[in-house]
Parts: sequence; structure tokens; C-alpha cells
Amino acid sequence: MSSLPSIPEKAESLVVCAQTHIQVLAEKIGPRPAGSVAERQSMDYLSGLLSQWGYRVQREGVAFAPTPLYNLPYLIGAAALGVAGWMSTFFPWVALALPFLLMVLPQWSRQWVQSRKPTSCSENLLAELDRSGRSSPPSLLLCAHVDTARALPLREPRLLRIYSRTMDILQRFAWMIFAVALLQAWGWQVAQGLIYAVAGLGSLGAFWLAALQLSPLVRSEELSYSPGANDNASGVGVLLAIAEQLAEREGVSNSIAFLFTTAEEGGLYGARDFICNHLDWARTTAVVCLDMVGQGDHLYYVVKEGVFKPLQTSLDLQNALRQANPSIQPLWHTLRSGDYAAFCQAGFHAIGLESGGKSLADWRYHSIYDTVDGINPQMLREVLQTVLILLENYTEKSNASLI
Ligand SMILES: [Zn+2]
Repeated sequence: MSSLPSIPEKAESLVVCAQTHIQVLAEKIGPRPAGSVAERQSMDYLSGLLSQWGYRVQREGVAFAPTPLYNLPYLIGAAALGVAGWMSTFFPWVALALPFLLMVLPQWSRQWVQSRKPTSCSENLLAELDRSGRSSPPSLLLCAHVDTARALPLREPRLLRIYSRTMDILQRFAWMIFAVALLQAWGWQVAQGLIYAVAGLGSLGAFWLAALQLSPLVRSEELSYSPGANDNASGVGVLLAIAEQLAEREGVSNSIAFLFTTAEEGGLYGARDFICNHLDWARTTAVVCLDMVGQGDHLYYVVKEGVFKPLQTSLDLQNALRQANPSIQPLWHTLRSGDYAAFCQAGFHAIGLESGGKSLADWRYHSIYDTVDGINPQMLREVLQTVLILLENYTEKSNASLI
């Protein structure tokens, strides 16, 4: 099916719509922690627009656990890093295990965060075009989270730049401690000065990690949240622009739906709750999650998540995205996750889309500086074009299926 204007022109015209939605969410409404009044205002904004465009909107209650004040696995990791260097002479196994502990730390932390008991309530929003009164599951679900993260307790951009490389730097310290311990275990005479210097670096890194973890406990009255222009007003804005465009098109498939989730930041609670209530969709519905698609100059599709027994995303969707955008690049998430992971874990054909620079998320990630001025319109255009071509290819297929 070919239509006028061309897809690149359509994408160009939709950039302004996406930017308007990003501005409303990140600037007019502002930080949107799960369960907050601001998040509800955002869901009202989405409902109003989607209903007006002809979508059937359902808001489904979600129980979630708010973001914890500290992260236990990271505190344990900090303690191990702090003592391993000093103990390398007597208990070398602590130092030898350290790099591997730091490697699995983000994954362990995610499991810990997701295992907490829900104590608060919020809602997801599902929107479907309802031209036929059909009640079968959609074949494609486009998803983005609405909530924003707690902001890091750092105000100084230089410190935030260091923070954005924290795990990289700590991993290097851990390997240095590992090397010193290994040399000692082999019976080499390692200079005391070198042992102390390496142990000191480890302790310094541990102090930095622990201080960041514990600061919300000390300053809990000053907790602030990120405005989340990139994370994830960008994903929501792009999906709204596409939803409006689809609604205007005659004959477009009814089988595309939009899901806007809550409490992604605190442990994917919105997506996991939605999955529990729509388990039968796993056989029929492909899921594409957009999260942080407004910064940087590379567009990525997630292929794996985690270090130990990594989750794999859908190969069919990977192919479909490469077909839609030959310059899209693969990404293996080792530090972070997203709603797509909850869908993959539950057996859905799902994938995540994300943009960024060479080192992916930049220093504004989860800070008070994730504001509208950091959004790159060129990247929005590329994401819009990629999703529009994906949808075009999808509706062209006679069986209208991506899986
Ligand atoms: Zn996000």
C-alpha cells in the first residue's frame, strides 16, 4: 500500500506533534512518579486525546511497590568492593570473585527491586481502534511507560558525568584488585604500596556507590524526580503522534493497540500487571516498547538483557526492525532493563527500541536535567520513520502478523 505524502515526509510532519506532547508531559505536567497526581494528569491527557481520535480507552488499575529508598544488592556490592582489596592477602577469594559480583550486580538488583510487595496503586492505559467491535487481541501492541524515575541526588553536571560512568570505573577497580590478589595467590611479592593503593581506590569507589545509595535515606524530605523528557516522554510522544496518524487513515488495521504503562521505573510493575491480565495475548500479539528515544544519534534495538542467562528479544521483530531501518544497531542491555523484558520473560514476541550516543544513556539520565532542551528532533524523526515503515510493512502483509 503506497500513500501520499511519503513516509519520510509524514515522519517529518509528526516530529512537531511528538515534540508538543513531550513538552506537555515534561514541562507543563513535569515529573511523573508512579501513583502521583502528575502521573494521573498525564494519563488524563492521553485518554482525552486518544478518545477524541476514536480509540477505545481502558484504564486498568495496577498495584506497585514504590522505588525503594536504597538498593540492597548495590550496598552489598559496595561493601565487597570496599573490603576486597584490604583482604586480598588473607582471603584472596573475596577479591577474585569481585569482578563477577559487580558484573551480575545490576541483574541481581533488578530481581530484588521486582520482588518487593506492592503497597501503592496506579494505572495502565490501553487504547485500541474499535472500528469493527472486534474483541480479539491485537496483533501488534506499541508500548511506552509514562512514569518518571527518582532523580539522582546530584545537582552538579560534572558529578553526573562521573556518575554515568560509575559502573565502568568500579569494574576497572575490581579487576585491579583481582589482578593483585591473583599475583599474591601465585606467590609473587607484590609491593605493599601497590596493594594499599589498589585497595584504597576500591574503598573510594565503594564510598561513592554507598553514599549515592544511602543519600535518599538521609535527605528523604528532599526527594526529587526527573522531568523525564527523554525517559520517557519521548516514547509516549512518538506513540501519540503515530496513534493520531493511524486514526486518520481509512482502512488501517484494527489490530494495532497502544499501551501506556505505570511504575516501569520501580520494577516494571505496570507491564508485569498488564501481562498477568492478558496472558492469552502472548500467542497472538507482538510487542514493541519505546523507551528513551529522543536523544543521541544512534537508534538501537535490544537483542538481549542481562549477563547471566540473558533474555532474548524476538528474532522476527529484530528482522522487521532491520528491514524498516537498515542503519539501526543491536544493543545488549547489561546495566538496565525495560518493559520489553517483562513481555519477553512471559513468552511474548517483544522488543525494545532506544536511542543514544556511543555510550548509550548520557549524563542527564535519571537526573533533574532530563529536560525538553535535551531532545534531538532528528532522532525523533528517525524513530517515527522507523515505526511508520514497520507499520506499513506490517499492514502490507496479507496475514497482518509480525510473529
Ligand atoms: Zn525508561
